[in-house]
Amino acid sequence: MSPNAESTAFRSALEVIRGVEPRVADAIAAELADQRESLKLIASENYASPATLLAMGNWFSDKYAEGTIGRRFYAGCQNVDTVEALAAEHARELFGATHAYVQPHSGIDANLVAFWAVLADRVESPALRRAQVRQVNDLTEADWFALRRELGNQRMLGMSLDAGGHLTHGFRPNISGKMFDQRSYGTDPTTGLIDYDRVAEAAREFKPLILVAGYSAYPRKVNFRVMREIADSVGATFMVDMAHFAGLVAGKVFTGDFDPVPHAHIVTTTTHKSLRGPRGGMVLCGPELADQVDRGCPMVLGGPLPHVMAAKAVALAEARRPDFADYAQRIVDNAQALADGLLRRGATLVTGGTDNHLVLIDVSGYGLTGRQAEQALLDSGIVTNRNSVPQDPNGAWYTSGIRIGTPALTTRGLGATEMDATAELIHTVLSRTTAGTGPDGAASKAKYVLDPAVAESVGKQAADLLIPFPLYPAVDLG
Ligand SMILES: *Cc1c(COP(=O)(O)O)cnc(C)c1O
Repeated sequence: MSPNAESTAFRSALEVIRGVEPRVADAIAAELADQRESLKLIASENYASPATLLAMGNWFSDKYAEGTIGRRFYAGCQNVDTVEALAAEHARELFGATHAYVQPHSGIDANLVAFWAVLADRVESPALRRAQVRQVNDLTEADWFALRRELGNQRMLGMSLDAGGHLTHGFRPNISGKMFDQRSYGTDPTTGLIDYDRVAEAAREFKPLILVAGYSAYPRKVNFRVMREIADSVGATFMVDMAHFAGLVAGKVFTGDFDPVPHAHIVTTTTHKSLRGPRGGMVLCGPELADQVDRGCPMVLGGPLPHVMAAKAVALAEARRPDFADYAQRIVDNAQALADGLLRRGATLVTGGTDNHLVLIDVSGYGLTGRQAEQALLDSGIVTNRNSVPQDPNGAWYTSGIRIGTPALTTRGLGATEMDATAELIHTVLSRTTAGTGPDGAASKAKYVLDPAVAESVGKQAADLLIPFPLYPAVDLG
């Protein structure tokens, strides 16, 4: 590759776009500048490689490819077949799975594919068979009625939202909450850890069709061997949603009992979080569920995105290289350095630390809500998101937590020294911010007071931290 191939590629792309709608070209360039300047601690974000990004911007976007390889509803899919097969092969090899379905457009879509595959596998329903050749969106009221009646009142047991579970694991704002009768398991109120005996007890009482493990905000490993034993003891299908930690599985940081693939019947993931690929989703499973999983499109998915499947193939090839394992280990080392730095300065962390890529700070110790903390940090150039803590007294909107994660900063190359400096900056902002009052003088959960001089000084220090670690160092837009 010529030394400035990446700069040339992105510069040329912008020049072409600028010729049609310059404001779009400007926004794309501005996004790179913003990402370069911000201390990104959002646990679900990362920076995909230039090769991954470039694989998405091409004529694969023009192709319809409903169905799967060998069973397409459109002609002329031979090149799509090539990239879909490559993405699936890399996924199978990387994760040691027998089957990989790489079409889901996002993590939520991957979960929907998995839920319907399990329902189709486990429940006899002619209405479901009929629905499988149509889009779920196209079902009539009568179709839904027949489906619900025939499917019975199927149950799902998943991790509660405030303990770090995900909306798609049977909660109301998501369709999974309408499809299933849901119950959740939480964490132990003293340790903050999953109490497997309580999960087993809930499973015995509730007898779910599907037991779901996986999280967006739980800072610890999950023992998937034990979870599978619980599922088996009640005849449940065991599903793991590894959206957040797929990179740690790919990089062999989570092995043995902590690797979901050998233990779960079905595994879903995003490809853009710790896995560092394009925005998208994926389903892994054994031979028993493969056929049902492959019916994801058109059952619940719109036409596949061949350009994104091409990018998945590139990113998964990258994740199979030895340096990805080193990256995955550094993600966890950095999260632990960040947690230690915060603890030493007096912060309260849910579960007292981390053994994955994320840290959950209980900011009530600073007298703040999650919303106040999130905004004060943002004012200071530190991008995080607020998140509930277990049994959160401030609910899911204001919250009492700040979730931070290290996949993105680790991609840039920051290490333990910079994590300690980051902990110092976060602690400075949180300890210098105070809760504000509303117009009536009552305590506000949203308003806060932070001396602008503190925000400015922290912002400057955060920017300085990033200088030695340029983002997309080979990309110079001129
Ligand atoms: C992020 C996430 C999802 C959703 O992924 P999208 O690509 O945003 O649809 C699903 N499950 C879990 C556990 C997640 O963390």
